[in-house]
Amino acid sequence: MLISHPIMRLGLFIFFLVSFTAACGGPVREVAPISYTLRFPEALNHYMEVEADIPTLGADQLELFMPVWTPGSYLIREYARNIDRIDATTVKGNSIDITKTTKNRWVVNSAGLDRVRVTYRLYGWEINVRSNWIEGDFAMINGAPTYLSVVDNYQQRPYQVHVELPDGWAGSYTALQTTDRPNSYFAPDFDTLIDSPLLAGSPQVDSVDINGVPLYLVTLGGAGVWDNDRALRNVAAVAKTQQEFWGHYPSDKPYYIFNLLTGFRGGLEHKDGFVMTGDRWYSSTRGGIGSWLSLVSHEYFHLWNGKRLRPVQLGPFDYEHEAFTRSLWVVEGITSYYQHILLRRAGFSTRESYLGTASNLIRSVENTPGRLVQSMSDSSFDSWIKAYRPDENSSNTRISYYGGGSVVGLLLDAEVRRVSNDTQSLDDVMRLAYERYSGERGYTEAEFIALTSEVAGSDMAPWFKRVVQTPSQHDYQPMLDWYGLEFEEAKEPEPKMLPNGLEPPDAPGGWLGADLKVSGGKTMVTRVLTGTPAYAAGLYVKDELIAVNGFRIEKAIASHLRPFLAGTTVELLISRRGELITLPATLAEKPNKSWKLIIRKDATPEQTAHLESWLGTDEVESKPDES
Ligand SMILES: [Zn+2]
Repeated sequence: MLISHPIMRLGLFIFFLVSFTAACGGPVREVAPISYTLRFPEALNHYMEVEADIPTLGADQLELFMPVWTPGSYLIREYARNIDRIDATTVKGNSIDITKTTKNRWVVNSAGLDRVRVTYRLYGWEINVRSNWIEGDFAMINGAPTYLSVVDNYQQRPYQVHVELPDGWAGSYTALQTTDRPNSYFAPDFDTLIDSPLLAGSPQVDSVDINGVPLYLVTLGGAGVWDNDRALRNVAAVAKTQQEFWGHYPSDKPYYIFNLLTGFRGGLEHKDGFVMTGDRWYSSTRGGIGSWLSLVSHEYFHLWNGKRLRPVQLGPFDYEHEAFTRSLWVVEGITSYYQHILLRRAGFSTRESYLGTASNLIRSVENTPGRLVQSMSDSSFDSWIKAYRPDENSSNTRISYYGGGSVVGLLLDAEVRRVSNDTQSLDDVMRLAYERYSGERGYTEAEFIALTSEVAGSDMAPWFKRVVQTPSQHDYQPMLDWYGLEFEEAKEPEPKMLPNGLEPPDAPGGWLGADLKVSGGKTMVTRVLTGTPAYAAGLYVKDELIAVNGFRIEKAIASHLRPFLAGTTVELLISRRGELITLPATLAEKPNKSWKLIIRKDATPEQTAHLESWLGTDEVESKPDES
């Protein structure tokens, strides 16, 4: 189906008039695009067929490659593994040589030919935001797992995509530029092609006007349960607040939200939209839509932070190698900070509920021993081998640049406000960063730090060194003092004596500190954090706990530990890979980790003013979700 965007329509002739500069810096000449046709004769079996019509530009050999990763998701994913068959022919259909030379490259003998045609069969049934997901009645197509190109000059070529819709599929939907031909699209360069997911099928599509261009909410899997109108009204409110935050809307292109209702949560940002997964039942409750909207708020913020304002390493992309950057905590962490702050400013949460969210984020960081092992910068740099490759020891050695980065955002905002005496904030930092670095090149970590110092009017480098570039315990006190906040520990209920004067029946009990899961009658260890008695005892993940001091575990483990005080050494009987082992473990007192961020009752007028400058007041009713 042709989606009509009059301002985006291009005459077909333009395809053949795109200037081409050879990679060697040679003379500019005109070049026709690589032209892909997507077909779905075996959609029922999760296959698509891609035909790539490739101008040779006079080369005797064409070296082709398939991307190995997709921007926004920092892991080598080896998309070439989904190619089952690949053939090369002339445009008349005569077979020519094609040889696979590496895991993701092929060489085609193109001597004497103006164009070659490469056809490949692609499997796609990964239900997530960064792969292909093809079924009998739809296909969610991402760029990196789909399009191969020419090694030498993929960044200098334009591209064209045509979708041949199977019978019964209503249309195709993508932020790529439309053309006069139905279901045909144009990308001026490879980054745009790869960054533009496409959904073919019969989704529910609704739109709202944002600054004169449509924002489309393309929902798959609503199944008559999901309320797209309600969701879209909420999205429009988020979009309005975020545009007010940045002071502008950075695009004149349509924006596409691909909302895949799969039952689990995920999102991947693109320059002109994003793909998200969610739960179809979320649109019918306020809590559900709030959770869905939180992800929308995050991904929409990337329209500015991440996709246009970006680290130098994140574009133009080398799709065959990792793009190492120390600044993912800016891209993802600061975005995670604003995803909640801007929902608060849009009236979707109260000040108190925002502080509850911030408490949860801080608590999560403080309960992760890895915060003292890995810095935010290193977490960003090593995302390829660590963040996207979690293992049983991750919590002990790593800190997420999402959650950890959002707490850094919270602290940084407070610090800029504090040192500038509330004349500047992180909002001003982000806006100036956008103004200065959203062009072709991007920013380095050092430039972001220097710019923050400039806005704050004070050298912030030592702060960044301590909080972002070194693994260390955060000092929350300056932030608490600035806003007039404090951490309130949840009080353990005082054990009451029985009316007959005897002691209370529940003994406090010792604490082992292993994360356990009871499954099929077995008590299995799922995580062992450093600093716990379980860690000191050498309990392993996947050990099965069988008995404590000779008594078989038949109740919750706490019941078996309750008779023993902290400091007592108990004997654990465990099964490790089938071998029965006795392990002594010295129990400790369970740390109280249930505290939250609250406003101090004795906050000074200055502190109250700082808090209101940051979070407003709750005097205005929070905006009820329309229903
Ligand atoms: Zn993100």
